[in-house]
Amino acid sequence: MTAARSRFTAGEIKQAARGRELEMLTSLAGIPSELLDESREHPCPKCGGNTRFRLIDREAGAVHCSHCFNQGNGDWLAAVKHFRGWTFPQTLDEAAAHLGLAPLAAVNSNGHHKGNGHTSQRVKPKGVDWLQRMADDKHCPVESLVAYGGVVNGIAVEFPLYGVNSRCSTFYVYPGSNIASERKGENATGKSAGLFLPHDSNGKPKFPKPGDIVVLVEGVKDAAVLHSFGYFVIGLPGKYLKTEWLPLFRGVRVVLCLDNDEAGIEATAKLAKKLKGIAS
Ligand SMILES: [Zn+2]
Repeated sequence: MTAARSRFTAGEIKQAARGRELEMLTSLAGIPSELLDESREHPCPKCGGNTRFRLIDREAGAVHCSHCFNQGNGDWLAAVKHFRGWTFPQTLDEAAAHLGLAPLAAVNSNGHHKGNGHTSQRVKPKGVDWLQRMADDKHCPVESLVAYGGVVNGIAVEFPLYGVNSRCSTFYVYPGSNIASERKGENATGKSAGLFLPHDSNGKPKFPKPGDIVVLVEGVKDAAVLHSFGYFVIGLPGKYLKTEWLPLFRGVRVVLCLDNDEAGIEATAKLAKKLKGIAS
């Protein structure tokens, strides 16, 4: 048997999965999320037993079973290999495909990706629906990304950004990139940042009106998720509001819903102060 060699190294794949280690354990290794806590031991999903299995390193996505997986278990890739029963090259291929780095078929057929090779980072597999990929990654419906003007252009998903009256820029997301900042998305070079606004069924951006309840979040993906639950959500291009945007929020009831991390909490206080006297 000729072992197909993955086009990506373990290091590249781990880099691409950074911050998503637990997700890789659940979605790729198939380990139920309720078994993934460091404080308690659980029955091993592979060999059974009552108190054999435990998450030992959240950041690395490393798990341990005192019976069947107590060596070579330092990261989530090792766990995927063990719990799936895959070979190491197979594990790399499956992980690369899962992360959107390469389509499985193209990697597996001959061990080399069939792309044109002019860019190693931004692979464009044929037939990949990048909007769908982005929706899968963020667990939101495609329709909600479309509601924010999301369209596929080549390997990018593009979103319009708005100033007070009109469109001011474009935001590009590369769901298949193995560079974190490209997966997260970037504003068009040289254009001033703007807001992500939902669009009506005619494709017109919806600006807030006095009396509206508007949820402010960080970025377009969070906006799309909450939009799918029926809220009027505006995505900030970060954690800030430009002073020139403030008139948009006059008389609006704003719900600040930034990330629940230190930076998000700090920014929430700043935004509340900035909106005081303008929005409630
Ligand atoms: Zn076990």
